Amino acid sequence: MSDDYSMATLKTLNFDNSYLSLPENFYQRLHPTPLKNPFLIGFNPDVAQLLDIDPCAVNPSVIAGYLGGEELLPGSEPLAMKYTGHQFGVYNPELGDGRGLLLGEVVNKKGERWDLHLKGAGKTAFSRFGDGRAVLRSSIREYLISEAMHGLGIPTTRALSLVGSEELAMRNGMMEPCATVLRVTQCHIRFGHFEHLYYTRQHDELKVLADYCLERYFPDCLQTEKPYLSMYKEVVQRSASLVAKWQAYGFVHAVLNTDNMSLIGETFDYGPYTFMDHYKPDHVANGNDHQGRYAFANQPSIIQWNLSCLGQALLPLIERDDVVVVLDQYSEQYKQAELAEFRKRLGLQLQDEADEELVMSLLKLFALYSVDMNRFFRCLSNFDGSDASTAALMALIKVPAALSEWLIAYEARLEQEVASFPIRRAQMRAVNPEYILRNYMAEEAIRTATEGDFTLVHDLLMLLRNPMDERSEFSRFSAAPPEWAGGISLTCSS
Ligand code: AMP
Ligand code: MG
Repeated sequence: MSDDYSMATLKTLNFDNSYLSLPENFYQRLHPTPLKNPFLIGFNPDVAQLLDIDPCAVNPSVIAGYLGGEELLPGSEPLAMKYTGHQFGVYNPELGDGRGLLLGEVVNKKGERWDLHLKGAGKTAFSRFGDGRAVLRSSIREYLISEAMHGLGIPTTRALSLVGSEELAMRNGMMEPCATVLRVTQCHIRFGHFEHLYYTRQHDELKVLADYCLERYFPDCLQTEKPYLSMYKEVVQRSASLVAKWQAYGFVHAVLNTDNMSLIGETFDYGPYTFMDHYKPDHVANGNDHQGRYAFANQPSIIQWNLSCLGQALLPLIERDDVVVVLDQYSEQYKQAELAEFRKRLGLQLQDEADEELVMSLLKLFALYSVDMNRFFRCLSNFDGSDASTAALMALIKVPAALSEWLIAYEARLEQEVASFPIRRAQMRAVNPEYILRNYMAEEAIRTATEGDFTLVHDLLMLLRNPMDERSEFSRFSAAPPEWAGGISLTCSS
């Protein structure tokens, strides 16, 4: 007999809320503020399964009641977490969950512990001047990108549901509908959690938090001689590996403040993020980022800077010299991780000393001719040296002849590989997506959703979940983006 019969519903989730065992000043306990007339827009069956929820046994109005904040999920003990962080390089002691609540932690049958965080749940003690709400526009973007990143194999928080409402909030002088997203991840601890305890000189509490994290996220580190140092090393390594993936896929996070950095190395807290349509190292995705601090090419060094903030906050637990040694390893870890990502995208299974040069010369071409890197790599997956496959690639570069020299070097490098063309093509098509969530796609989904039609939200979710699979009915999304895509501008406002 299948064990599906024992699957949970939202009413019977197996909550076990370990964050409440931490000191009371780590959080504020409070209930969500209900949204006006909430309705279910999207429910993600893949994430439901992580929580042992049978995705077929869900009732839209029941979900909307729970995740629109009207009713509390049985077993949920909601709280707003306190944290601080460096925003655009400046320390801000006033942060915390200002519009989201940790509803609780669900332990699934595999013993995995998943945090449920309701974003847009109303005001908390940390809302400052904000209204505690998330608008539909940014909630759609978060719902879609969570699944899109997962589909690409880039570590990310997930999202179970998207709930709309008739409540309105003011953004940029306009009224916009409010929504909630239920964010699901194993970890809501940010670098800023540690910074808060460090800068308020709560060093005993800092140790309590670090012990909690060791046990929950890094149990292997407990077996080492210096567990806190081992944990820090692990965070540095995971962060290097994460940003390498961003750089390899042209992803700009856009708000890399330390309060948006996940301790377990997931892409976290989505705002005006962007997959670049045209490769531009100095691309700034956030209209509020006037200095270009979080420009695409700055991300690797910004992550190191953020890691140094975390290292500073851990100084009561780790010796300064040890922090410095670990931080110094970051650049090489990042470089190797980035090279590994590009080798995969180029279909190179072996390692050659000249690979770095091959990658760097390609990135130079991308930058020089503003190439759409993701379309390029997909097209490269079909490259077999034939005239037709060469012409297809050249069509993606404004000055086609500029690619010739690089292609000769690439073909020479491919000769070292053992895989035949069909095998290489399959390997490359498994890492080079046909579809990527471009800003214009999210904008279209938002525009139609605002008119009451959520079809595109559902279609994109399905498409981006398996972005490597070609779907002829959606071929327009793998073509060049429309001209108006270049005019989209995004800001922090959400
Ligand atoms: P973010 O830019 O989303 O990372 O948010 C930075 C800080 O502002 C966090 O402390 C958030 O909780 C808070 N915040 C963002 N938007 C709102 C809002 N609409 N209402 C209250 N607090 C908010
Ligand atoms: Mg944030």
